[in-house]
Amino acid sequence: MKKMVKRLLAGVVALSLLFGGTMLMTQNQPIAYADATNNTWAGKTPKYIFLFIGDGMTYPQFTAASDYLGAVKTENKVVDTENLAFMDFPVVGNATTFDASSFCPDSASTATSISTGYKTLSGVINMDTSKTLAYETVAEKLKKQLGYKVGIVSSVPINHATPAAFYAHQPSRNKYYEIGQELVNSNFDYFGGGDLLQVTGKENDKKSLYDLATEKGYKVVNTKQDILNLTAANQKTIAISPEADGAMPYEVDRKTGELSLADFTRKGIDVLFNDKGFFMMVEGGKIDWACHANDAVASIQDTIAFDAAVQEAVKFYNKYPNDTLILVTGDHETGGMTIGFAGTQYSTYLPQLSEQSMSYEAFDAKIETYRTDKTSFENVLKDVQKEFGLVTEANKDQTIYDNMVMTPYELKQLETAYNLSMIPSKERALTDADKLLYDGYEPLSMAVTHLLNNKSGIGWTSYSHTGLPAAVFARGLGADMFSGSYDNTDLFIKLKALTRVK
Ligand SMILES: [Zn+2]
Repeated sequence: MKKMVKRLLAGVVALSLLFGGTMLMTQNQPIAYADATNNTWAGKTPKYIFLFIGDGMTYPQFTAASDYLGAVKTENKVVDTENLAFMDFPVVGNATTFDASSFCPDSASTATSISTGYKTLSGVINMDTSKTLAYETVAEKLKKQLGYKVGIVSSVPINHATPAAFYAHQPSRNKYYEIGQELVNSNFDYFGGGDLLQVTGKENDKKSLYDLATEKGYKVVNTKQDILNLTAANQKTIAISPEADGAMPYEVDRKTGELSLADFTRKGIDVLFNDKGFFMMVEGGKIDWACHANDAVASIQDTIAFDAAVQEAVKFYNKYPNDTLILVTGDHETGGMTIGFAGTQYSTYLPQLSEQSMSYEAFDAKIETYRTDKTSFENVLKDVQKEFGLVTEANKDQTIYDNMVMTPYELKQLETAYNLSMIPSKERALTDADKLLYDGYEPLSMAVTHLLNNKSGIGWTSYSHTGLPAAVFARGLGADMFSGSYDNTDLFIKLKALTRVK
């Protein structure tokens, strides 16, 4: 028996030597996730490939957006939805999202699965579970083997987990500087959207990543005009949103005239367009951040902005339908968001959500001033009415929505949260119950958004990621490959089959 094991091991080693790294990698990959029946492709290779990833966006997020748009359109009088553009794509698939450490995976491991076909641990970028072997990504393969130009766009920092998973290989997603160095050395053609995190390293003692990028031939632009002027004549470009403070602003906070995710996608197409082909990954990264904070309005508005970016690709597809493939998916669900809440039973009041004028994050900034100014609860309630539409019994004639009048119980919930928020965060002693209610967020922001969400018929179960599968929408050349039910690693395998990269 022992001899046999030894012989088998010797065989594995020999094979490993024979096939180089590939065999070694698969040793950490004991389960085959590939759906062998649907991974061959006899057709033409798509020249232009778009991969849109809504971070934290699965069924609840895009359904909430389309239900909301439908409810607003009909003033909630009839049940009707207004599909986002990608929801009308002709091919739909379903991808499981678990990673090697959890059924509730993170963005690093799920993006690794999508871009390399391997499962790994949460937090790991394109390396195996032992964090020693690096995997080549589909974007790297397309660039090296087919000469495609590559673009990476995100509304969050471009060295954050999801964008990083197309060009970096790191044992931890938190190694932002090292990820930035890999970005600079990737030779990819276009990066757009958010800023770079830890530009001069964690200890502020390293050479600026932007200087390194310039040395490597990148043109770094960060004004609206320079970004709008970008064309195919521009070689390697990093286009940073002028409003980026790490991430781009939430769509609900974005001011008229400020660049959107759709703008960065359109400019990406302008820069990348060429005869050989291109691959562009666009991430709607703040759908996830909004859902971590259980802010349905911020999530819905960012999902709509993400769809507007998809529509830029659809315009391109309409010009080059025989050469273009568009994929739209999510990496995991965030927040345990759902449509329906215990307090509203079978009813929803989604148009009420349009009363919210700012994200939880912008409201956090207001709370900061309440704390400094020692603003009274009565005065804070005036802002709650102005910015979120929630009114007290005394002001019930000031809303068109009966359901927006707060009950004494709800008002008490707000006051409890207000009292906690008036204490500087470091001095707050949170009970277990407080932690379930507010996690690490500003208590008053959480109380206000939860109240508005719940009264509108939206529920939440978590401040983290959950285990729901992701939908995959496909349009264009090779789209049929993406129908059916499979694992997220299959997205890579299908792309590999379509483009015949090794
Ligand atoms: Zn997240």
